[in-house]
Amino acid sequence: MAEQDYYDILGVSKDASEKDIKRAYRRLAAKYHPDVNHEPGAEEKFKKINEAYETLSDSQKRAQYDQFGSAGPQGAGGQGFGGFGGGQAYSNFGDIFSQFFGGGGRTRRDPTAPRQGRDLQYAMTLDFMDAVFGKTTTIKYNRDAECKTCHGTGAKPGKSPITCPRCHGAGVITSVRQTPLGNMQTQTTCPECNGTGKIIKPEDRCDTCHGAGHIHERHELEVKVPAGVDDGQQMRLQHQGDAGENGGPAGDLYIVFRVTPSREFRRDGSTIYVDRDISFAQAALGDEVKVKTVHGDVNLKIPAGTQSETNFRLRGKGVPHLNGNGNGDEHVTVHVKTPKSLNKRQREAMLAFAAASGEDVKGVKKTVLDKLRDAFEDK
Ligand code: ZN
Ligand code: ZN
Repeated sequence: MAEQDYYDILGVSKDASEKDIKRAYRRLAAKYHPDVNHEPGAEEKFKKINEAYETLSDSQKRAQYDQFGSAGPQGAGGQGFGGFGGGQAYSNFGDIFSQFFGGGGRTRRDPTAPRQGRDLQYAMTLDFMDAVFGKTTTIKYNRDAECKTCHGTGAKPGKSPITCPRCHGAGVITSVRQTPLGNMQTQTTCPECNGTGKIIKPEDRCDTCHGAGHIHERHELEVKVPAGVDDGQQMRLQHQGDAGENGGPAGDLYIVFRVTPSREFRRDGSTIYVDRDISFAQAALGDEVKVKTVHGDVNLKIPAGTQSETNFRLRGKGVPHLNGNGNGDEHVTVHVKTPKSLNKRQREAMLAFAAASGEDVKGVKKTVLDKLRDAFEDK
């Protein structure tokens, strides 16, 4: 099913102002609202209009949409990628419509109306580096798909549903009960046709789906994971969920990312943190050292006189931003290491260094026990 462009749905141009979008939305929503428009397909159109407005009326979502289309990445927690979520659309326009129609945006539950299929969720585990740089992968999942033999009607080719003989097409059964207060009428949904008013004769049912209109299938889908996704974020793939009913669109597929931590890098959004040990001599004299980044090793200049726990920033050496606009930074914390033991030459040099600094350092010779203790300590 081809996705319809949100701008086309609202009939506005790509550079339409917020005001234009709002005006177009009000006009279309009033025209297609299910409470006023009973034409077939109106409810579906109404849903699409709301979906389009939901995205285009929010500058952040609109920017994301322009960038990624409706399958754009989105964060579970907001942080820059507010979800253009499925259920959210409805909760919003309920409010808007209570202003328009005075009665809230409640829609009738018509069993013959087109209904969107269920949304599905898929948990995808990503290696740390794949989350950083993105990847294309094929996933397999179970979903209900429209039956290709009958195209969702449930009837054999050439056959079509007939009017339900039990309710004569009304979809409801009216029964009259006599009570001491008079006759009471009750209406119940017709169990024969489930309220649709139509049935398919058993001999006319589609052989492939046995009249259901959809089949359970194992679906394969190629997914492009954008560079920069993070643990817990999700991405919506429109219309890759379960098939809709009565000609309604399929639901969406939400891919939730689980990112495996790295042993070398700590990540916070697009920023990478690493630690680097340097010697006392390097700290005092200055040096150039190799530092790991997700983009490979880079040289870091350690200025003379660097103190332990100093932070250095490597610009652009972090995680690519999800919107494709460059990379975050890497922060390197250097740790100046005191030598655990000194050989004779080193010891003499150190004492000379202390003397040159005007310090009267006596030094304490390590005992055998100290050396043993050192051997058992890590590193
Ligand atoms: Zn079928
Ligand atoms: Zn019926």
